[in-house]
Amino acid sequence: MVSQRCYGLGTARSVIRELFEYGNQRAREVGPDKVYDFSLGNPSVAPPREALDELERLIRESDPLQLHGYTSAQGDLAVRERLAASLAKRFGHGYGPDDLYLTVGAAAALCCVFHALTEAPGDEFLVFAPYFPEYKVFIEGAGAKAVILPPHVPDFQIDLAAVEAAITPRTKGVLINSPNNPAGVVYTPQTLQGLGELLRRKSEELGRPIFLISDEPYREIVYDGGLTPWAPDFYGDTIVCYSYSKSLSLPGERLGYVLVGPEVEHGREVYAAVAGAGRTLGYVNAPSLFQRVCAACDGYTADLSVYAANRALLTDGLGALGYDTSLPPAGTFYYFLPTLEPDDVAFCEKAKALDLLLVPGSGFGAPGYARISFCVPTRRVQDALAVFGELARQYGG
Ligand code: PLP
Repeated sequence: MVSQRCYGLGTARSVIRELFEYGNQRAREVGPDKVYDFSLGNPSVAPPREALDELERLIRESDPLQLHGYTSAQGDLAVRERLAASLAKRFGHGYGPDDLYLTVGAAAALCCVFHALTEAPGDEFLVFAPYFPEYKVFIEGAGAKAVILPPHVPDFQIDLAAVEAAITPRTKGVLINSPNNPAGVVYTPQTLQGLGELLRRKSEELGRPIFLISDEPYREIVYDGGLTPWAPDFYGDTIVCYSYSKSLSLPGERLGYVLVGPEVEHGREVYAAVAGAGRTLGYVNAPSLFQRVCAACDGYTADLSVYAANRALLTDGLGALGYDTSLPPAGTFYYFLPTLEPDDVAFCEKAKALDLLLVPGSGFGAPGYARISFCVPTRRVQDALAVFGELARQYGG
């Protein structure tokens, strides 16, 4: 009667959502300050003042019919002009408005790209573990296959030999996510350089481009003065998927984009197919009001100092308790902590019994780790350290 695939997806909650709901229930039972919920990647700082001011100004000063009306399917032209100018100023490459397709967050951007690039069922996209679990849903939803490459431990950069071995005549694209959810790693210029060289060589062998799809919702959330290298600098056939959910703390407003730059081979065709995918999926016309807000605030960020403080507290506090904090996140608001036993699910269950909610790494394709989402009030991190201590003691720490 209904699609079994969709039914399955609609009735099964993700591990992360399951844990989050459990946390809400426990908070009602024992009180919110007794539950140390680090499950969800929901930004915990307010959007930047500039975004809120622009929102107020737009509502006050704009013609409401225009402000809340339909825009072009790919996004309002003036908005795309403004965004393209901002991106060209920040990254070069001479981006123009027709390179941008505005979407309902990065999720829709990715879905449009996978649909646009999949020509036949079983076409393949390479994905590096650890990975955002929805990737599989998005890729399979387009009728393609997600080929998961095992994590490159301990640094979570890219194992180029493994990529080379995994590329087949069916490979349509390689998906990267840097800064990475959940590992917090930022790919180095050397990693991207190596990947670019490899993809150029393999594309030549295949006689067509293998596209690099760069999912970058955490692009600006980096620490210690670091920068996220711009993937198109290293490989021309890069399609960038972006979201304002994390950088501007606007996840509920659903705004992002697909960028198909001038260096992308057959770029106009790819762009048209992305637009066609937007039609197929019913994603045309990203939210009109927030198109304008985000265009005015491209490159801005919410106050990241809370995340930086939480990250420092976790590094020092967990390190002092005997946890392995040798790879603190270079970006994002996730700590990917080696668990104190190989079975990360068992470890997270033990933590859960103490009302400490961590997501097992196996859900991201990387067993032996637990993800701590530290986009929470600093007080929660401070209070949770005692519980992390109790957990370590269960392992003889
Ligand atoms: N990609 C990654 C790596 C994410 O972590 C998320 C959200 O958590 C998304 C994409 C989807 O983001 P959006 O809210 O823009 O749809």
